[in-house]
Amino acid sequence: MVDTEITDVTDDIVLMRVVGSKFNQGNMTCIALENGLVFVDTGQNAKYSEQFRKAMEKRFNQKTLFVLLTHSHWDHIFGMETFHDVPIISSEKGVDSIREELAKELSPEGRQKVIEQSKKWLEENKVEITKERQEWFDMLPKVKVSIPTIGIREEMIFHSDGKEFLYRVVGGHSECSSYIHCVSDEVLITGDNLVAKHAANSGCMLAGFGSQGLEVLSQFEKMGVDKYVPGHGPVVNTDYIVKSRKWFSSMFDALRGLKRDGVSAEDAIKDSSLPEFFESETPRSWDMIVEHWYNTI
Ligand SMILES: [Zn+2]
Repeated sequence: MVDTEITDVTDDIVLMRVVGSKFNQGNMTCIALENGLVFVDTGQNAKYSEQFRKAMEKRFNQKTLFVLLTHSHWDHIFGMETFHDVPIISSEKGVDSIREELAKELSPEGRQKVIEQSKKWLEENKVEITKERQEWFDMLPKVKVSIPTIGIREEMIFHSDGKEFLYRVVGGHSECSSYIHCVSDEVLITGDNLVAKHAANSGCMLAGFGSQGLEVLSQFEKMGVDKYVPGHGPVVNTDYIVKSRKWFSSMFDALRGLKRDGVSAEDAIKDSSLPEFFESETPRSWDMIVEHWYNTI
């Protein structure tokens, strides 16, 4: 069953996750400042973002000040409608990318095309249209996405109650990817440069995670942060970052080696030299993901 899960990261930072979904639903985080609330990302579904906003406004008895976007992928911006009354801040590249998408994939015709192509793919691959998938098809034409109000080129710093917060554009997962460093709280809200529990969040993130993502992960590791709030999955600590970084690094090295030795993609994905995945469950479409890495690293 699809449900939401709330985690208190600190007294003033709260994470909301959508769990039990087959879709790549992005995390949402609320930071309570002394004069109001800041939300990080808007999730994939306005139903959950609205619930979360209301719950946080009630809990902290504060109004919402603004929203920060970690990047412009659909699973992080489709809940935007919930925040139509406050400024939405993203990287400058994020503003450009949403503007471009609104003219292409997110135009009314573009959305219809996405639905038709997905249905065709599902039919060809004999994948049934589940209730959740049908809801997604019904929702897509109606999702209200707007161009962010403010675009940040490199970084933005804000303070509350003597605490410092830093929004920084870092790239990696996508050109427009950014993180939010809650410096005094020693918390890093990472966007999709970090994902935990990959199996529950589909292989989509893994496929989009290449050498640049690995560099950003190494940066995260050195930041001396206590808690990491990923783009998908639960809060993790530095040990998880180290484990994750080491695994991706050895996986990419192994694939590069096989490629150099002239091993085909088809054989490489089954090669015994590849390290075993570091989490207990392997993501769906595993072969497809590894083949994607083989072709792109
Ligand atoms: Zn995502």
